Amino acid sequence: TTKQLIMSEKLAAIGEITAGVAHEINNPIAVMQGNLEVVRQVMGERADEARTEFRLLDEQIHRISQIVTKLLQFAKPEEYAGFVERHAPASVVSDSLPLVQHLLNKAEIRVERDDAATRLVLMNRTELQQVLVNLIVNAIHAMPDGGVLRLATADRDLDGRPGLVVEVADTGVGMSAELLRKVFDPFFTTKRKDGTGLGLSISQTLISRQGGKISAASTPGEGTTFTVWLPEAA
Ligand code: ADP
Repeated sequence: TTKQLIMSEKLAAIGEITAGVAHEINNPIAVMQGNLEVVRQVMGERADEARTEFRLLDEQIHRISQIVTKLLQFAKPEEYAGFVERHAPASVVSDSLPLVQHLLNKAEIRVERDDAATRLVLMNRTELQQVLVNLIVNAIHAMPDGGVLRLATADRDLDGRPGLVVEVADTGVGMSAELLRKVFDPFFTTKRKDGTGLGLSISQTLISRQGGKISAASTPGEGTTFTVWLPEAA
């Protein structure tokens, strides 16, 4: 469609600019990190008086470097493409959970699993894990007062092609139809200062590169389900 065409042109343009800018930003960040460490050492015990300020500086520098990494991944995904292997999707789900355990504990979220898939996927393991972590972290953000995170895998055909799905479902705030239409747009976020709006657009890029598809269904006030479909490994 025209909308998709405009979007892919927009993405290509953003990608080129972004890759250049992100590379340029990386160096001064590294220098700042080094300088901060030196200042802390020179101050010795007095550094304790500025404990809060040091922590904030560390956090903010870390945050900038995370944004830059995400921008680079988004702008130059081919540089991040690694080994593509066959995996049982449930094992990738299992590997993703420890990475978000602290967030699950903090928000009092119960995890339910249903590993029914018998088919294997063909994908770079780190990338699939990145997609799942993105989806899980979004689900956790949607349940600030706790809830249930449901992670399921199942064999499923799509348009006659054999494949499987990984579902990430939450009982969180949900989304209106209007919001749902925008979530895969690059830089679209409702998380004012904490969001980059890149998680879902990067996830979509990674999944479609493997011939897969990512979709979402949501009911405001009830929750959201993201479904990742991937073709079965031959
Ligand atoms: P970010 O998380 O940095 O905002 P994403 O691309 O991952 O970027 O998500 C874009 C937006 O989609 C979020 O800001 C949020 O509004 C919405 N969203 C994503 N996942 C969920 C979810 N599980 N429940 C409700 N809203 C969601």
